[in-house]
Amino acid sequence: AASELALSRRQSVYLVGGIVRDLILRTPNFDIDLVVEGDAQPFANALAEQLAGRLRFHERFKTGVIILPDGLRIDVASSRNEYYESPGALPSVTVGSIKRDLYRRDFSINAMAVSLNTFELLDFFGGVQDIRDRKVRVLHNLSFIEDPTRMFRAVRFEQRYEFDIGDQTLKLLRRARDLDLLQHISSQRIYDELRHMLNEEYPSRHIARLFELDLLRSLHSSMGFDRKTLELVSSMEDLLVVSDFLRMEDLRRDVLYLAILLRSLKPEQIIDIPLLQELSRRDRQLIALGFSRSAELLQCIHSEGKLWRKLRLVSQYENDIILLAMVRSNSQQRSWHFLRDYLRSYANTLPILRGDELIKMGVPEGPAVADALCMLQAYIVRRGNNRPDRDEEELFV
Ligand code: ATP
Repeated sequence: AASELALSRRQSVYLVGGIVRDLILRTPNFDIDLVVEGDAQPFANALAEQLAGRLRFHERFKTGVIILPDGLRIDVASSRNEYYESPGALPSVTVGSIKRDLYRRDFSINAMAVSLNTFELLDFFGGVQDIRDRKVRVLHNLSFIEDPTRMFRAVRFEQRYEFDIGDQTLKLLRRARDLDLLQHISSQRIYDELRHMLNEEYPSRHIARLFELDLLRSLHSSMGFDRKTLELVSSMEDLLVVSDFLRMEDLRRDVLYLAILLRSLKPEQIIDIPLLQELSRRDRQLIALGFSRSAELLQCIHSEGKLWRKLRLVSQYENDIILLAMVRSNSQQRSWHFLRDYLRSYANTLPILRGDELIKMGVPEGPAVADALCMLQAYIVRRGNNRPDRDEEELFV
């Protein structure tokens, strides 16, 4: 549709950035980025109408987002030539050509476009060759100085695709790192990049590389990466890779990993970290207290024999704390299995009765109601699982 519209409106329109890179790499990517030569707004309006999508357009930046009925996003921008008034400032926008638009991008692999008028691949800076050579390469010597967040982006693409940062690019990155430029960048922009990294499938690789390049400390002076941290981060990765059983849509991976990375700090130190000010209070609390609360949870379930009482205990903790507790405990241990079973089935079992119904049946109001509900839940799950009920006597005794 975008291509037909480009032809009928006689306007040059390009597919750009990450999706072109991922098409060449044959990696799935559903972030569609379009650049329209000239004013993007009328084109975006027409495309949104044709696809029955909703358009939000940002007049100042001349960019818009179309949200399609199935949730797919199409970003539409005017080809532009950004110049930075000072490092880290918001870019000003003037309308320019597609080549200049691509030149302001971070790496050659991200600076390619496909014309939707001719379906030609535009690769002015050797992106295809760099994909072949598995290299992350900046487009010019001042790239990291112009935008120091690209240091994190270089690591992210390098680690995600198992590429290497090119030799010259690595030299430039180290030089920019030594200039301490991140202090001029807003916490929000830095956190955005960090969040992207921590939401990657294997963040341990990204964190290890940041550590090796001495970039981890630029995020916070006490962010180190020792053996124990690597172990914890890796077991969280393992857990989240098989997380289909967790059914947790609202899981915040970045927050879980930060709770591990910053576990040696005191809660009051964590709450004040400028980088984390963009997060909600709840997320900051989780980073500050999550690790110690997970220890408390493990302690409690160790010292509790009856299944229904364990269930009652765990149900008072958020899923994130339960995951952190699993990461702390060894996968051979009973508590690890209990917590996995809890997340897999107990937490998702609908109670056959509600508290008010039990009260009507004569259970005295108060903690006895919650106790009874947990007993019922434990009983139903055990019965439903069809497995030897060696623990059954633990239920009610
Ligand atoms: P991902 O697959 O992680 O979404 P992406 O390449 O789509 O990767 P985005 O951060 O969504 O990354 O950015 C989209 C495109 O915008 C990039 O491919 C790149 O061309 C450009 N870009 C993004 N951030 C920068 C930056 N800081 N400096 C220069 N260009 C950037």
